[in-house]
Amino acid sequence: MIVPIKGEFEKAIPVLETLQAAGFEAYFVGGSVRDALLGKSVNDVDIATSAFPEEIKKLFNKTVDVGIEHGTVMVLLEGESYEVTTFRTESTYQDYRRPDSVTFVRSLEEDLKRRDLTINAFAMDNEGRIQDFFDGEKDLKQQIIRAVGKPEERFNEDALRMMRAVRFASQLGFHLEADTFYAIVVNAHLLENIAVERIQVEFVKMAMGDYLLQGMEALFTTNLYQYCPGLKHGKLALRRFSLIPAKLKKERHVWALLLYFLGIQNPKEGQAILRHWRLSNKIISDSVQLLELILYRHHLPLNHYIVYRYTPTLIWEAEELLEVIKLPSDKQTAAKLINTIPILERDEIDIDGKAIMNVVNARGGRWLGEAIAMAEKAVVLGAVENDQQAILNWLQKYKYI
Ligand code: ATP
Ligand code: MG
Repeated sequence: MIVPIKGEFEKAIPVLETLQAAGFEAYFVGGSVRDALLGKSVNDVDIATSAFPEEIKKLFNKTVDVGIEHGTVMVLLEGESYEVTTFRTESTYQDYRRPDSVTFVRSLEEDLKRRDLTINAFAMDNEGRIQDFFDGEKDLKQQIIRAVGKPEERFNEDALRMMRAVRFASQLGFHLEADTFYAIVVNAHLLENIAVERIQVEFVKMAMGDYLLQGMEALFTTNLYQYCPGLKHGKLALRRFSLIPAKLKKERHVWALLLYFLGIQNPKEGQAILRHWRLSNKIISDSVQLLELILYRHHLPLNHYIVYRYTPTLIWEAEELLEVIKLPSDKQTAAKLINTIPILERDEIDIDGKAIMNVVNARGGRWLGEAIAMAEKAVVLGAVENDQQAILNWLQKYKYI
């Protein structure tokens, strides 16, 4: 099959041609070729070549060593950057993880053999001709996820490939081929050897896939879910998760809903689970706040103070998530409150400790912090205008100062 060379591929053609002119082989490889064959848009292209890293570096003016021990050199050309990787095999696998050393080779076929799935093992030359050693095109047509070579061996080499298989099932709506499927069932426990950070990346992509139901189905029929952090007994939660009718837009939505379906009520407990997944503090905090909002909204309506405390972005997203889980939501009120809130940040308030002390003529102390907190709440809720004199009057009237 011939794929028309356009877009990102076209821009990268000079990289391929420079390598070829120097007598090396060079191809587009990996996900970009798969996506092109599927007629999907392609964002970044990966290039593989028979040239060794030092040889690549000699051919281009500007390069960056991004992973030279794995054979990857970044080539900078006309404002774009391209990852160019030497054909390689991965020989010594230990502990079911990524190899600890790689061997550079001159053969494309050897390089493609080490790749995880047939649909990820294409190469495409500068004229759009596809090299397909493992019948990947047939699998693309039949919508099948199949390991390259013997699935059992390949999952023993690197157990993350099992999560990747499930992730692609969710992104593409493909089915796991029978041998690949059974090899995952038998070897699912090997996932325990894999760094949680790597599992997490695949889990999020799976949960945000266009065919979530199919991805989740694969995750639990293979038992892989049992080896994901906090999900040993998570089957029911994942089942409920799998039935959401919408495609999730943000990573924090994945985590908030996972906690929700796990029945987590306590923010501390939610944080602990997400820490097991080794997420960043920011993602943990946003996700747990979304969970708090969803739970709050089970019982209570929104008000300005909630909008202020949780920020408009999370308020809006929580209403969207309520829709996703088919609970009553109220976007109209959310929008109105967001548009009419008197202040969004603490430093917008027209009062500070100095102004209060001038009036009261007393030394600062706990009372002062409490008075400012009351004024903040009153301004946010619209009980008093955000104006220094009005706030002072209000504080005096209610005897906070
Ligand atoms: P995406 O579109 O999500 O980036 P991708 O297929 O490009 O999907 P990457 O993680 O970017 O996935 O990997 C690029 C290529 O490297 C894959 O297409 C595959 O050929 C190979 N690959 C990635 N991870 C593995 C792995 N664990 N084992 C074998 N090959 C892998
Ligand atoms: Mg990629």
